[in-house]
Order: sequence, then C-alpha cells, then structure tokens
Amino acid sequence: TANEDRRADEAAGDELTRLAERHLVQPWPVSGSIGAEARGRIEAGEGIYVTDAAGRRLIDGPAGMWCVNAGHRNRQLADVMAAQAMELSYNSPWYTTNAPSAVLSARLAEHAPDGIDHVFYTTGGSSAVETALRFMQFANNVKGRPEKKLIVSRQGGYHGSTYLSASLNGRPRDHDWMDSAADLVVKLSCPDPFRRPEGMSVEAFCDFLVEEFRAVIEERGAEHIGAFIAEPVMASGGVIVPPAGYLKRMHALCRANDILFIADEVVTAFGRLGHVFASQDVFGIDPDMITFAKGVTSGYFPLGGVMIAGRLFEELRRSNHSEAMFAHGLTYSSHPVGCAVALKNLDILEDGLLDHARAITDHFQASLKALEDLPLVGEVRGLGLMACVECVADRVSKNPLTLDLEVGKRIDRHCQELGLLVRPLINMCVMSPPLTITSAQIDDMAAILRKGIELTMDDLAREGLW
Ligand code: PMP
Repeated sequence: TANEDRRADEAAGDELTRLAERHLVQPWPVSGSIGAEARGRIEAGEGIYVTDAAGRRLIDGPAGMWCVNAGHRNRQLADVMAAQAMELSYNSPWYTTNAPSAVLSARLAEHAPDGIDHVFYTTGGSSAVETALRFMQFANNVKGRPEKKLIVSRQGGYHGSTYLSASLNGRPRDHDWMDSAADLVVKLSCPDPFRRPEGMSVEAFCDFLVEEFRAVIEERGAEHIGAFIAEPVMASGGVIVPPAGYLKRMHALCRANDILFIADEVVTAFGRLGHVFASQDVFGIDPDMITFAKGVTSGYFPLGGVMIAGRLFEELRRSNHSEAMFAHGLTYSSHPVGCAVALKNLDILEDGLLDHARAITDHFQASLKALEDLPLVGEVRGLGLMACVECVADRVSKNPLTLDLEVGKRIDRHCQELGLLVRPLINMCVMSPPLTITSAQIDDMAAILRKGIELTMDDLAREGLW
C-alpha cells in the first residue's frame, strides 16, 4: 500500500542519513561534528527546483553553488554526457588529445577578450586558480626573473581550497585555523561600497582603493609582484560589486607595471552576468588570464579551466629555455566528457539562455531591491543574476548582526518551510538562481524571501536579540 511504500522510503532515508553521518566527511565542517554530521539531503532536481528528503519542492535560490546555470534535469546535457561516455569516456592528456576539448577551446576563445585564445582545463575552480598562479611562477622563472612572484588579492575574496588558491582568500574564517602561503600574498582592501569609510564618497573610495594598490606596488616594487587576482564581482564575499571604474583602473596599474591581471570568473562567467565572460563584455577589461569553472558545465560535470593570452606563450617561446617544462597537469585535464557537456551547455547559452538572462535581470534585481523596506535589511545589491540581501543590527551604524545570531541560517530555515533554498552567509542571503528562472518564479522567490525575513524579525524580537 501507499503507506507501506512511504514507510519503506523513510526507513531507506534514515539509513542514508546514518551512512553519511558515519562515513562521509562533509566540506567545510567544524571540529565538533567533523566526520559525524547529518546534512539535509537533496533527492532530485528539475528546472529551478530541487526536492529534499522530506519531499518538499524548493526553489534553488543559489543554483547549487552558483553553478546550475542551465537548470536541473536538462535532458540535452544528460544525453550528451551519456553519448560522449559511450564514444570515448577518457583519454590520457599526457600524450593524446580529443575532439571535444579542441572544439570547446576554439569556441571559448571566440567569447573571450581579444588575444585570450588558449585554454588549460582543470577539474574545478581551485585547480584553475592554482594553474594560473603556477603558470605565472613558471613564466617568471623561465624569463629569468624568479623574484617577481608576489600575488596581490583582496580582503573578502574567495579563490579556492587548495593551498595556494586558499592562501589568497580574504574572509577571516578562511584563515582562523588554517595554514597558508602568507609570505607569497599581499591583500588589498575589499572594494565594498556599502562598507566604505564613513563620510567618503564612492568616487573617493575608488580613488583610495587604486592608490592603495599603487602604494603596494611602490613599496614592494613592481619587480616583485607577479599577479593581481580579482573576482570581477566578489561572490562568496557577499556579492560585492566594486565602484564604477575600479576594475579598469586596477587593470591599468597592472599593465603599467607588468603585473598579470587574473580575472577569477569562476562565478561571473557562463551567463551569470548575461555574457559568456564578464571581464570585457561587462567591465571593459582584457585580463591576461581568466579562470572559470562551475557554470561551464552548469554543474553537470566537474570542469574548470584558465583562459590564457597567447602572447604569454610567445614570450616563453622566445626565451633561452625552450626545454623548461611547465610541470603541471591533471589526470582529468581536457576530460572528453566534461568538454562535451560544456560544448552543449555553450550551445544552450548561445541559443537563447544568455538573451533570457539579460532580459530577466532588471526584474530580478528590482524584486530583491524592494526588500530594502524591511528594517532588518541593510542593503540589497547585485548585478546580473547574482544578488545579496545583507542584514544589519542597525541601519545607521550598519553594524553586522553577530555571527551567533546566524540570521542568514534563520532566514534560510523559514524560507525552506515556504519553498525556497537560500544560501546563508552569516548575516547575508545570496541569490543566484538558475538562469532559466521566469518572471513569475522570480516573484515567488522574492515573496518567500520577504516572508522568511519577516518571520526572522519576529523571532529575533521575541527572543530579545534585536
Ligand atoms: N573562485 C571563485 C570565485 C569561487 O567562487 C570558487 C568556488 N566557490 C572557486 C574559485 C573555487 O572553485 P572550486 O570550488 O570549483 O574549486
């Protein structure tokens, strides 16, 4: 009977929870529950929705981790994976190549800024960032300037979880208990206009940020700085859209000082900001390298990569060290299945999804911006199909709510009851839904988020916390 089926399902679900608790180490765990943690299980996905273990259908507000751009359960993506696996599931990139990676590279080069015409494929974003940095180190060794290797990143940034990429991260929690290659990195201020110094205009704040970089270059010497890395819009740091002109001016400083500009587009590429790459099409800059991952396969396959300007190779070919090997490669570099999925995903983007994402952006941003009338909300900001609702204890002081209140988690819990998955980030809720979201679905999402914030305000007031 139906009841028996349901009981069997529940028992199977409990068993899965038990297995995960006993044997699965979750990412980003805390010591108190490491290796013994039960997390909510997602069982299925379709379009912008996922279904959890309790059978609730939820809007996938963060599109997984900013990655399910073409939406869940896309038949074309699933079919192409199966077909490629049957044709050629793997080849060694050590001495062979394959068709999907060749075609994909040419297609990506068409979308990248002029001159950025090569790709090195990795398994995700961290390995893409790691590759870009190791390439900078290698190139400077070959060019006879091994001292030019410092990497400049920013407070608030996130670039990955391998040793070197994680060393660039600028969120306090990333370093509290972790070692890093701190001596290789210099961190600049976070370009967050909402938290600029009091009394300073946004324009003056932008001047301050650029001057800060200039001062670092002067102090450390351009001959010691190899690269500047930046997310065009900081994602995990809370969707920080920098002041107008900031990226162009930072880019100009890099060019003037022979510092490589690495745009970390792991989140901002593949339609999130309405274009395949945002660097040139949105911000008017042409970086020397662009790292990407996530949306390149809409999360259907773990793939990432670095777009590299061809002129960087010409310099190496002209050097005296033609035997110097860039001793860096991954078993899954140029994976044929990953590249085949990425090609189909690119077709989907070109055949209307980019247009749709651009068309829906204003409605998306306006619907969320309207939440600024809620007293708990300090600011709603965003660009393209990424936005952040930042809650504050007090709108005048902009004091963030303390971590203990876990206000994002509270909002998330209420929203999940109402049909929306939020990605809580301390006091912030980040929204970056699948690009397939419709106008009506945006209205649903914003209405649920409003209700979730209202219920959280009630709770905090009742508990005397706010
Ligand atoms: N760079 C940025 C901007 C990211 O947001 C992330 C992941 N959130 C990474 C790099 C690391 O990517 P991955 O988790 O695929 O290694």
